[in-house]
Amino acid sequence: MLGFLRQVGDYTRDTVDAARNIAQGLAVTFDHFQRRPVTVQYPYEKLIPSPRYRGRIHYEIDKCIACEVCVKVCPINLPIVDYEPGPSKKIAKVLRNYSIDFGVCIFCANCVEYCPTQCLSMTEEYELTSFDRHNLNYDSVALGRLPTTVSTDPSIRPLRELAELPKGELDPHNVPVNQPAYGPQPKQVLNPTMLS
Ligand code: SF4
Ligand code: SF4
Repeated sequence: MLGFLRQVGDYTRDTVDAARNIAQGLAVTFDHFQRRPVTVQYPYEKLIPSPRYRGRIHYEIDKCIACEVCVKVCPINLPIVDYEPGPSKKIAKVLRNYSIDFGVCIFCANCVEYCPTQCLSMTEEYELTSFDRHNLNYDSVALGRLPTTVSTDPSIRPLRELAELPKGELDPHNVPVNQPAYGPQPKQVLNPTMLS
């Protein structure tokens, strides 16, 4: 008799535990019913990358002096500076091509930081996918293409990231572009006087 009562007690306790767990799970589900969706409808909507995002590298061949500093500071010696000896001492090198393989690049931006003529820059382009990895090897023409930006592309709707939203906002869809973000911007972190 005692064993039977113990079994009934265990069964009842398990039933109550299961009911409590189901109720907790449904509470989360019903809570989400009341929230607005924050899904980004990519590729018709895209999040604006943060101001210091390191995307595809842009290269200006007119400024390049073929010094190869970018190769020396690159952790994997990645940039290929293709030049031939120049006709005179004054023109020691004649640049023929320049390439970076984005299938290998780790986007550390060392080359951008150290280039003496500032002909390299990081862009906010992040859509570099390709069916063939060899297509990721960009030559000077591909690197020289002006970058597209999410905020200036008329075919898509740019949305601000969570960290860029005003206080209390979770859904970027209805936030005006000129409404300031809740947290400080990178420029304000570097120069705290801008916060006042
Ligand atoms: S560091 Fe700059 S100037 Fe020198 S080879 Fe590289 S891209 Fe050209
Ligand atoms: S971003 Fe870094 S890894 Fe890529 S080419 Fe420049 S230095 Fe090399």
